[in-house]
Amino acid sequence: MEFRITCIPGDGIGPEIVAEAKKVLDAVAVKYGHVMRYTDILMGGASIDVHGVPLTEEAVETAKSADAVLMGSIGGDTTTSPWYKLAPNLRPEAGLLAIRKALNLFANLRPAVLYEELAGACPLKEEISAAGFDMMIMRELTGGLYFGERKTVEENGVRKAIDTLTYDENEIRRIAIKGFDIARKRRKKVTSVDKANVLDSSRLWRKVVEEVAAAYPDVTLEHMLVDNCAMQLVKDPAQFDVILTENMFGDILSDEASMVTGSIGMLASASLNDTKFGLYEPSHGSAPDIAGKDIANPIATVLSASMMLRYSFDLDQEADAIDSAVKAVLQAGYRTADIMSEGCVRVGCKQMGDLLAERIK
Ligand code: NAD
Repeated sequence: MEFRITCIPGDGIGPEIVAEAKKVLDAVAVKYGHVMRYTDILMGGASIDVHGVPLTEEAVETAKSADAVLMGSIGGDTTTSPWYKLAPNLRPEAGLLAIRKALNLFANLRPAVLYEELAGACPLKEEISAAGFDMMIMRELTGGLYFGERKTVEENGVRKAIDTLTYDENEIRRIAIKGFDIARKRRKKVTSVDKANVLDSSRLWRKVVEEVAAAYPDVTLEHMLVDNCAMQLVKDPAQFDVILTENMFGDILSDEASMVTGSIGMLASASLNDTKFGLYEPSHGSAPDIAGKDIANPIATVLSASMMLRYSFDLDQEADAIDSAVKAVLQAGYRTADIMSEGCVRVGCKQMGDLLAERIK
């Protein structure tokens, strides 16, 4: 099959890590008889330097015409880069917000996986980390408290700030459907996280998630209050498969879940709309401190490419091949600097890409 992929190399280590992800995708294409056609667009600082804005209309149109978007990362050193002297709407990150909006990406997927070989980096006690974990946090991205009406007023000399948390049933239903669909590709369990003991929006969330669950009898649904979930993530992370939650809870829980893996260079992510289309990118930033040195870890981007194959192209076998290659390379003892440990072989960004591509061939 043929797939059109728009690539956003971006800034900092972005171009280096995207190049390695392409290398791995090309190895998959050769092995399984697919054709991957890439078109690069500029975004973030790279676009500011050429066009004066972090994202152009043409770039958005190119992204829209593709089957999926694969991104490195954007942004520079926020204290020294001249990009951060520009007005906020012209800074690199404005490009990211604009493309998410233009592509209607409402579902954010963040896997948190503890690899046996990297268990030493996990900050949890050994008796907890020994069980390993492999969870997917599905966060609603365009509604809730971050997008509600807000204002600050002064009443009788007292300043008062108001934020509103709103969800309608359609917003909840579309993300719940995504969550259950993804659980079907995994271990078939959804933990829906809310604060239904206090919030009306959470009570509606729970009802609509239950309605959606009726169409997925093969998937187990449980509900968990967000405060309990925050505790369970450090007490027994192995219990989770898919965590389905609203915007603010997901923001906090996904950062907590990624911290317990201990390795920022390994964490992939995806943002999806209501078709098969998605934007795939590592969870980390553009790491300007190590850019151009061939020492960045490309695995988070490679695993983002694997998610693209699985969730946008329905190529589960090919995605499994990438995931297995990552495990095999770690098992063989190869490490980039960020995940290096005693007795392992240190490799650069390019060599890590080569090793992964070789495992796939
Ligand atoms: P960062 O994630 O770029 O870096 C944090 C630390 O982790 C740094 O020491 C960096 O060297 C290291 N690191 C990150 N990715 C790595 C990798 N793949 N391999 C090895 N080491 C890695 O976060 P930051 O320094 O806070 O942000 C730098 C820039 O990235 C900022 O401009 C920020 O706005 C931007 N940013 C962009 C995105 C995005 O594009 N989605 C996300 C987060 C941050």
